[in-house]
Amino acid sequence: MRKLLRHTAELAEDYLQSITQRDVFPKQEAIDHLVKLEEPLPLDGEQPETVIQNLHTIGGAATVATTGSRYFGFVTGGSLPATLASSWLTSTWDQNAHLVTGSPTAAAIEQIAANWLVEGLDLPRDSAVGFVTGATMANFCGLAAARLALLTSMGWNLEERGLFGAPNIPVYVSEEVHVSVTKALALLGFGVGSLCRMPVDDQGRVDASRLSKIDSPSLVCLQSGNVNTGAFDPISDIHELTKDSGSWLHVDGAFGLWARFCSELSTQSAGIEMADSWATDAHKWLNVPYDCGLVFCKEPKFLASAMRADAAYLDFQNQRDPSTYTPELSRRARGIDTYVALKTLGKSGVSDLINRCCALAKRFARSLENAGFTVLNDVVLNQVLVTHPKPEKTPAWILAIQQDGTCWCGQTHWQGYDAIRISVSSWRTTESNCYTNSN
Ligand SMILES: *Cc1c(COP(=O)(O)O)cnc(C)c1O
Repeated sequence: MRKLLRHTAELAEDYLQSITQRDVFPKQEAIDHLVKLEEPLPLDGEQPETVIQNLHTIGGAATVATTGSRYFGFVTGGSLPATLASSWLTSTWDQNAHLVTGSPTAAAIEQIAANWLVEGLDLPRDSAVGFVTGATMANFCGLAAARLALLTSMGWNLEERGLFGAPNIPVYVSEEVHVSVTKALALLGFGVGSLCRMPVDDQGRVDASRLSKIDSPSLVCLQSGNVNTGAFDPISDIHELTKDSGSWLHVDGAFGLWARFCSELSTQSAGIEMADSWATDAHKWLNVPYDCGLVFCKEPKFLASAMRADAAYLDFQNQRDPSTYTPELSRRARGIDTYVALKTLGKSGVSDLINRCCALAKRFARSLENAGFTVLNDVVLNQVLVTHPKPEKTPAWILAIQQDGTCWCGQTHWQGYDAIRISVSSWRTTESNCYTNSN
């Protein structure tokens, strides 16, 4: 066992060394080599050393270097060295983070991380926190809590009677709603055709001036950090339009919520605390290894009721059992990496990480503009949308960048233009490994 683990640790070190030199997206040759892993289900097992070695050589070569410094695709984040280490240790422990009795360690450490998160993000202090796979599931959980709370307020016992025949809940989403929110709504029984779309401005923010007051209990989905522009919906203004209506505000802040750690970004992130539930990702901007999403709910009882699973053999404690706030029962103790990220960075370290990414996004925008490219968005966070000086050349330009291997950026469509989408979210990306000249 010791030999296998030592060897694997060496392979991991080699991998981390190599990504600083390698192409960010794997060469076609490496992708083609993946077929070497294909074979009929082996009848007999093979030596672990050999299997791991092949995994490293063949599988590792075809990975995307998202943990390196030059990956700007989607909003992916890297993994902080300390969280890679904690993820190893957590896998070694192989804890089942469902109940306190399943793992006192997992439960206790998650609780600490949960408290720190609520404080760092400056959300209502008694909010419940659930550790899920990603922001999609976090949105699902927040919206499930909302559905239950709203139906309860309408006198409908959802747990008892289910959704069929229940009163209608008006659901508001932005024209720029993230696909994970519509997916979560669909999973919860809200058809896309029934959603009211709120108009947005040129940065993709909900335009509150074009909304009328909402008088009846509604589910209002907002966004902190537009997936293209990084812009924030004006939550205070929308809160003003919904207050006294008994509505529930849910915020998708998959990456934008981390702005709450930075006083420099307080203009953007103001009012977020007025919502009732929030979703974010630790695997994006907090730079913990995949996967870790987070749901927060101001009134813990609604999230707990929406996620309830009682059985005689499940020994729920008075303390916080991790599965009280998640759809899963058995799962990995993913909260531990978040604890380690917060403990090793501190509040100031998280704030520095976020600010550094935002400064580098601005630098990207400036340099590209100076070189004659057009930046389509106000760079208020870590997102930059750029078109080629000849817009019709943008798709070919993006493809060339993706194939070149120096870095990797995604593509999008924004306000009639094809655009390259640059997201800066890795702890590894610094001034010195960003390019400055015409390269
Ligand atoms: C990434 C993202 C999501 C979905 O998060 P997953 O972790 O991929 O499930 C939701 N909303 C926004 C704004 C995102 O950027």
